[in-house]
Amino acid sequence: MTRAGKIDIKSLRLEELQEKLGELGEPKYRAGQIADWLHKQRVTSFDEMTDLPQSLRAELARQFSFDKIDIVRVLGSKDSTQKFLFRLPDGNLIESVLIPASPALYGKKSDRRTICISTQVGCAYGCKFCASGLEGFSRNLRANEIVDQIIAVERASGEKIDNIVFMGMGEPFANFENLTRAIRIINSPWGLGIGARHITVSTSGLAPQIRKLADEPTQVRLAVSLHGATDEVRDRIMPINRRYNIDMLLSACDYYTSRKKQRLTFEYILIAGVNDSDEQAHLLAKHARRLSAKVNLIPYNTVDGLPWSRPSRNRQENFLSILRAAGIAATLRREKGHDIEAACGQLRLQTNREERRQITA
Ligand code: SAH
Ligand code: SF4
Repeated sequence: MTRAGKIDIKSLRLEELQEKLGELGEPKYRAGQIADWLHKQRVTSFDEMTDLPQSLRAELARQFSFDKIDIVRVLGSKDSTQKFLFRLPDGNLIESVLIPASPALYGKKSDRRTICISTQVGCAYGCKFCASGLEGFSRNLRANEIVDQIIAVERASGEKIDNIVFMGMGEPFANFENLTRAIRIINSPWGLGIGARHITVSTSGLAPQIRKLADEPTQVRLAVSLHGATDEVRDRIMPINRRYNIDMLLSACDYYTSRKKQRLTFEYILIAGVNDSDEQAHLLAKHARRLSAKVNLIPYNTVDGLPWSRPSRNRQENFLSILRAAGIAATLRREKGHDIEAACGQLRLQTNREERRQITA
């Protein structure tokens, strides 16, 4: 729904468009024409759909909204990580990150352009290290607002995106309905046509939704933000762990791997003195072995106003080598976004703070 209470045309699945056109007494093939204008030609108004009768264009404009998201800031350069800040029609800010030629992440070879997209404005889960949670939760993104991030970044950068990760602002599984709707549009041949294996959803550990996704036919990849190998560590930095502790989370992951062919990935941010001990590495290796999961280590990106920092390079490499010695497929991300504050939620936080300063000045 939009502010005016209308559904955005870009949120509809092909079957829904067909049903709608049937109700309007139009032939079914018009749905394919509309989907083509929206997701292939990527027009920004009904008036540009020139092979539709004028009366149909007017009727669609009466019934549906056709929102767009505006880029308000771009940080970074073309050959490195670029960060895009968008303003939504209701004034809220969200962000996406474009990462070129990412090194073998989530089972992908290099030479890919990966986009990291947001699913919510803010986040209600309040992980202690994360900028997205710092200002609390505002609202869920609608399916069209999720998909529009990809379209807008392709348009602005002139690049074709071939890999999508749901690791921007927000907890994707807390917006399950819009998430799965957006995935359908991104994945379908009539939509963006990006293969399910090139789509990764990251969760902080919503165990019931991990099971729910396991039961869906889609073959998207799953990343679980573990960040601690014991309840003691996870409780300290991730409030979600008090609802679904490690046992509950890992058994949901067991269920997931029993239903899907792909390996899941554990995301593990390395934070100095919090989760980077040898003991944590050994326990993490045990969890990863149980699930045949890969581990992606991410040195912590400092956030203004938060007390955490990344461990020394030595400590990071040591943690990695313990996992590897235990036979785990593990990578250490040499974080490209550090210089431009690319970790999720940071650009928005900074812009919100600047805008508040301007208002109070
Ligand atoms: N809510 C989901 C997806 C968005 S967060 C989740 O938590 O998985 C995407 C990833 O960015 C998560 O693994 C998160 O822990 C990580 N992240 C958040 N803040 C970070 C920071 N300051 N430095 C490095 N990674 C961070
Ligand atoms: Fe939300 Fe994920 Fe950030 Fe936790 S890490 S506050 S779940 S966006």
